[in-house]
Amino acid sequence: MNQQQFENFTASSLYCEKCKAAMPVRERLLLVLPDREIFDYLCTGCGSSVGRREITAGEKTLAQAMVRRRPRRGAAHQLTQ
Ligand SMILES: [Zn+2]
Repeated sequence: MNQQQFENFTASSLYCEKCKAAMPVRERLLLVLPDREIFDYLCTGCGSSVGRREITAGEKTLAQAMVRRRPRRGAAHQLTQ
């Protein structure tokens, strides 16, 4: 079995040129087209774009199912007034 393809689909860390290391990334919706959506991957260390992914209409339902499964990140959300 080849697990590499699955890893690519759920990339959570990518190599960052600026940080010179594999960094955890944040997925951001960049562009919505009639037949696909384009996501940008931003380095959580320096905020620069380190990758991009296109999701076609067919893949979208699969991606949404995976997002729904992922638990929310609450730790980075704490704000003091
Ligand atoms: Zn970086």
